[in-house]
Amino acid sequence: MTLKELQEYIRNRDYRPELEHAYFQKLIEEVGELSEVLRKGKRMETEDTIKGTIEEELYDVLYYVVALANLNDVDLEKSFHLKEAINQHKYGR
Ligand SMILES: [Mg+2]
Repeated sequence: MTLKELQEYIRNRDYRPELEHAYFQKLIEEVGELSEVLRKGKRMETEDTIKGTIEEELYDVLYYVVALANLNDVDLEKSFHLKEAINQHKYGR
């Protein structure tokens, strides 16, 4: 799945402009949860144990980043390439 396809997938299931502030609050909440599982080093061990793991919280953060991009009509793939070009120049990588 490409970034563009991921945006499309989430846009088709969850696109509610009136909830932008709530999406942002959820993103911050999920970043906090990610911080906790990173600190505890909680990794997914089998396919059915994603709850409370780094894998789950990275998904949650990504979900709300993409949802917010969609509400603001941001093409994340395009943003990635534009910002990557700046970083390549800035950091020489
Ligand atoms: Mg979570």
